[in-house]
Amino acid sequence: MFRTVAQFDRIGEENAFAVLARATQLAREGRDIINLGIGQPDFRTPDHIVEAAVKALRDGEHGYTPATGVLPLREAVAADVTKRTGAPVSPDNVAIVPGGKVTMFAAILLFGEPGADILYPDPGFPIYRSMIEFTGARPVPVPIREENGFAFSAEETLALITPATRLIILNSPANPTGGVTPKAEIDKLVAGLAKWPDVAILSDEIYGQMTYDGLPHTSLMSYPEIRDRVILLDGWSKTYAMTGWRMGYSVWPAALIDKIRKLAVNCWSCVNAPAQFAGLAALTGPQDAVAAMVAEFDRRRRVVVEEANKLPGMSCATPKGAFYAFPNISKTGWKAKPLASALLEQAGVATIGGPDFGVHGEGYIRLSYANSTENILKALARIGDFLEKNGKAG
Ligand code: PLP
Repeated sequence: MFRTVAQFDRIGEENAFAVLARATQLAREGRDIINLGIGQPDFRTPDHIVEAAVKALRDGEHGYTPATGVLPLREAVAADVTKRTGAPVSPDNVAIVPGGKVTMFAAILLFGEPGADILYPDPGFPIYRSMIEFTGARPVPVPIREENGFAFSAEETLALITPATRLIILNSPANPTGGVTPKAEIDKLVAGLAKWPDVAILSDEIYGQMTYDGLPHTSLMSYPEIRDRVILLDGWSKTYAMTGWRMGYSVWPAALIDKIRKLAVNCWSCVNAPAQFAGLAALTGPQDAVAAMVAEFDRRRRVVVEEANKLPGMSCATPKGAFYAFPNISKTGWKAKPLASALLEQAGVATIGGPDFGVHGEGYIRLSYANSTENILKALARIGDFLEKNGKAG
């Protein structure tokens, strides 16, 4: 019998995909399911972006490209990052990758090995921990707390750094909480990192253009003192409603970019060529679709928060970014995962239990508001009915 390597027994997954599969199955069986589980915009990719991909194919752009992406696209990424963060970025430091996840995969592979510690947000995107465990490094959760507005705490993060720490993963605006870490807190973290010059930082800013109430997004790229050790993770999936195109990018310190180029050569060769031209059109074309999408998310965000706060046992902080709300359900008397499961099976509403994002997610469920206001209202009414009948609050 063949034997696979033990590393693969440690790899995890994203329960959001399992919930999506179950929701799809229930819908196929004729159940009326509202999906607040999935983390992707419910908008179409803007037409001019789709047309750019079609045109690229017609123009014969269907061959291999350089492993880190076509130069005009890397130039456009560099210009866009410079415009938004003020950091001078060279196209030579940019890698176009098949989705934001690939940057995380590459960065964690680069720094993770037995004996190394990697800090990551908890609750946070589940793939961070999964990949850290895959490499044999020790996952060190940085608790993300509601009382902190779901921002990460500089003090807590710095206190967890030891000589074994190789990489810190940060995510703001954050999945699953919608938390945005204020600039003052990031200033504090960056100041504290001066003491740890060998620690690299992976800054997952995939929701960077989705903040609300005029709150600015602070990029880790905007700090010159750490720029030689920051890996920026960003991409097109969320900003331009392009999750299925598999288009992401990263900005790497000069010391690392060639390692990523080689990883690309060994694994994915290059990103789908017409998709790269779509990505170019997205960055260089009109941005009004992005603004319209964010404005619509903002409207839905208010609806979710207002309605969720009316439900028995539930209290919902106002998310400051991304398109998720993370209501506290501890007063319903339910544990989060059984509640999420009962809501799907009995009330026909897909949500994700907080513990799917880490142990500090207990007591919360994630509601994605990437769904119509009508569906959000219907879903929350169903959750309300369910809790009225099944609430265990004393
Ligand atoms: N980072 C975070 C925080 C995310 O929530 C996601 C997707 O949900 C990703 C990265 C991955 O994005 P992509 O679909 O581009 O791989």
